[in-house]
Order: sequence, then C-alpha cells, then structure tokens
Amino acid sequence: MFIDGKWTTAEAGRVFASTNPATGEVIDEIPDGGSADTVRAIDAAENAFASWSQTTAYQRSELLYKVYDSMCANREELARTMTEEQGKPLRAARNEVQYGADFFLWYAEEVKRTYGRTIPAPRADQRFIMHYHPVGIVGAITPWNYPVSMITRKVAPAIAAGCTVVVKPAESTPLCAVETFKSFEQAGIPGGVVNLVTAKDPAPVGEVFLNDHRVRKLTFTGSTAVGKHLARGAAEQMKRTSFELGGHAPFIVCKDADPIIAAKGVVLVKFLNTGQACISPNRLYVHRSQVDAFLGEFASRVEKMKAGSGFDESVGIGPLVNEAAVEKVDRQVKDALEKGARLVTGGRRLTDNGLDKGHFYTPTILAGVTPQMRIYREETFGPVAPVIEYDDTDDLLAMANDTSYGLAAYVYTRELSTAMQLFEGLRFGIIGINDINPTAVAAPFGGMKESGLGREGGPEGILEYLDVKVGGFSLR
Ligand code: ADP
Repeated sequence: MFIDGKWTTAEAGRVFASTNPATGEVIDEIPDGGSADTVRAIDAAENAFASWSQTTAYQRSELLYKVYDSMCANREELARTMTEEQGKPLRAARNEVQYGADFFLWYAEEVKRTYGRTIPAPRADQRFIMHYHPVGIVGAITPWNYPVSMITRKVAPAIAAGCTVVVKPAESTPLCAVETFKSFEQAGIPGGVVNLVTAKDPAPVGEVFLNDHRVRKLTFTGSTAVGKHLARGAAEQMKRTSFELGGHAPFIVCKDADPIIAAKGVVLVKFLNTGQACISPNRLYVHRSQVDAFLGEFASRVEKMKAGSGFDESVGIGPLVNEAAVEKVDRQVKDALEKGARLVTGGRRLTDNGLDKGHFYTPTILAGVTPQMRIYREETFGPVAPVIEYDDTDDLLAMANDTSYGLAAYVYTRELSTAMQLFEGLRFGIIGINDINPTAVAAPFGGMKESGLGREGGPEGILEYLDVKVGGFSLR
C-alpha cells in the first residue's frame, strides 16, 4: 500500500494473493488493508490537502506532465503486469496504459482553464464572482477490467482540481494499482496527495469512505448493485458522488448498413477485453435482410480468434477474470439455447491445450435471441454476442431503449437521417455511429439511467472534483 508517500504493509499484518487468470498461478502477495489502514490514508490525504489545494494550477499542471512522462517510460512494465494479472493481450494492455497516461496529459492542460465567471449583478453597487474550489478528499473505488486507466481517469482530474485521493483498487488487480502508483511516486507527487489501500475485502474500506466526514467525494466504477449500495451510503453525509456502472449496449445494423463493415466492427468491440467492458455490445439488432451476410462474415472472423495467454502474440482473446465469470457466461448461453436460440459458433468452456487451469470461454455467437432470455437483459461481461433479428414493422428505438441501463450504443447505417434519428432517440450516454470506439480522454464518458451518474474525461471530468463558490460583493 502507498500511504503518505511511503510503501507500507497492512496494520493487521495480513496479506492476500494476486493470481494469473490464464494459469491460476499466484503472482505475488499484497497487503490486505482494512478500516485502520483506510483511516491512516485519509489522515495523510487530509494533511496533504492543506498545502496541495493551495498550489497553483500551473504547479499542478507541471506535476501532471511528469506523471504522464513516467507512465510512458514505465509503459512496458505496466502493460506486462496487466497482462499477467488481468489477462488481456499485451497489445491491448499497452494501449490501455497509453490511454491511462493520456488523462494526465489532458488534465495537465485542462487545469489551466478551470475558469470561474463574473456575473452581472441586479444592483449597481454589487458584484458577483464565481470560483471553483476542490471538493476535498476523494475516495476512489476502481474495477479490475481496466485496472490502470480506471485509476488514472479518476486520479488525474482529482489532483488537477486540487483534491487529494485515497484509491481502493479491485481485489483481482492490486498489482496493476501498485505499478501505477510507482509511476506517481517517480513523478514526485508530494506525500499524501495520492494514497493506495489494497484489500481483499472491499466492504470495510468502503464503509470508512462512507462514514468518515473528511471524505467529501466518492467516485466509483463497478457493478450497478455495488454502486447503488454506495449511493445509499453516501446520501447519509450528502457526499458528492460519481458512478460509472454496468451497461447493456445495443448494436444496431440497419437495413441500409454495409453488413460486412458492421461485422468487422462488432468483432473488434464485442471481444475487446474478452467482452469484459461496460460498453460491450450486449444486444445485436440486425435487420432481417442483413442477417445472413452479417452472420457469415461475423462467424468466419470469430472462428479464427485464438484464446490463450495474453503474452502469446497470436492470441486475440484472453481469459475471463475468474471462475464465477465463466459460470455466469455459461449459464446465460445455456438459458438462451434452452429457450430456442441458435448457436452459430462457440458456446463452451475452453479446457484443451493447457487452458484448463485458466478461466477461458470460446468466443460465442447466438442467433434468434428473444426478450425472454436472460442474456437479453442481464449484462454478460463475457465473449458472447446475442443476435436479434428485426423487421421494418418493429419499433427499433423502443426495443433498443428497453433496458434499465444507458451507457453505450452503436449504430451502423449509411443514411444520414437514420443516423441522426437514432443518435437523438437512443437513451445512452455514448453512441458510436459507424464507429466502434466512441471514447477518448477529451470526450465525457458516462451513462444515463442505472448506468451511472456524472462523467469522466473531458472538461466535465474535472468539474466532478470542484465545488462552485459564489461571492457577492457590496461596494457600499
Ligand atoms: P465486479 O462484479 O465487476 O467485480 P464490483 O462492483 O463488485 O464489480 O467491483 C468493483 C469495485 O467495487 C472493486 O474495487 C470492488 O472491490 C469494489 N466493491 C465491491 N463491493 C464493495 C463494497 N461493498 N464496498 C466498497 N467497494 C466494493
């Protein structure tokens, strides 16, 4: 753990193991922190806040540039740790580290533009000004699927804003967090500004974040169920919150789309990170006239995908995070098949060629999926693409919006008017139009409905860590 600028063990002296999801082997042991360690980290963050919040935007900017440089210098080390601990192919891990570092570059620039306002006053002898102030100490809880960039997407804007932070990373990927913090340390971030508490059991750390009055902002990325629990808890002290939760993205292939281009797109986005992404397509609505061409191209590409260790350059798809994830995917596939779905390809665990020790599942396509199947509503978080055929008579927008989630959606069409109608009608926060990567550090990322609250990245991302303060001055 990293508290007050120093690497430290847990007060209770406990440790827990981090394992490789491709082989089941233990990689290392990590301090197993609890309430006392979290309080210690908040103490450090409180001490540091007094001076850090008084630095100028230019001073903070300079430090953020240094973090960007140190993350770039450590890119290979970070990526290798990620492939070993999280499982994604090395190329994808390198991309994630770069994406993660880019938040520091972007907020190093943006922090110099957190302008306030002067506001016309109703009285001649009155003046109004509006300033932004850092909200204070931030508790950040991060997931395992993007174990580096989900930390930096929070830490970069938070410290740019003048806040200090305590991060609790996911229990499956603590080493990625440790490596990320080494870059923070090398860049010379002052002690206490960023702190890391690793823990096997997240609940006690979360409880301290909720109950300690000094934590004024809670930022969370993870499941909707845990997000709701934390939102209820944060209400007690009316903490500022942002939540980036689950998704159930529709991927729409319109009558006028090019089915081959759409199939190439969906292969890239659906199996990214073995389907373990909140923006992963979870319902593929394909116009009936396009189904054969789309499925033909899609299946032939999926069947060529090789699963295995992310260190093997020929591997395109890594393991799932754990056994429970494999079981969930398998349960959804079996349920769909029992209710009449057609298996186009895949549909089983992978245990041959030494994969039995890891958590592997074949990239899978299901056709003829209907709303009665679990996969139509439950987030899959795995390598399964459920295809739903639709007709001209169907209300496509109503079907696509029929979910409690509202994070990402994708549309393939060659008609500008169709693109615009769907862009405007879809109740999702991030929409790719003939594009499978509608994300960038400069673009606000976040969802509607039960996919969350607030945005990360872009100018909106730093406002999540700033309070608004208005001054009314009388000249009398
Ligand atoms: P997933 O099911 O994808 O692992 P979770 O929501 O369980 O998603 O995990 C996301 C993050 O939330 C992880 O860092 C995890 O440790 C943390 N977490 C899970 N349960 C709690 C809790 N009760 N309090 C605080 N954090 C939690």
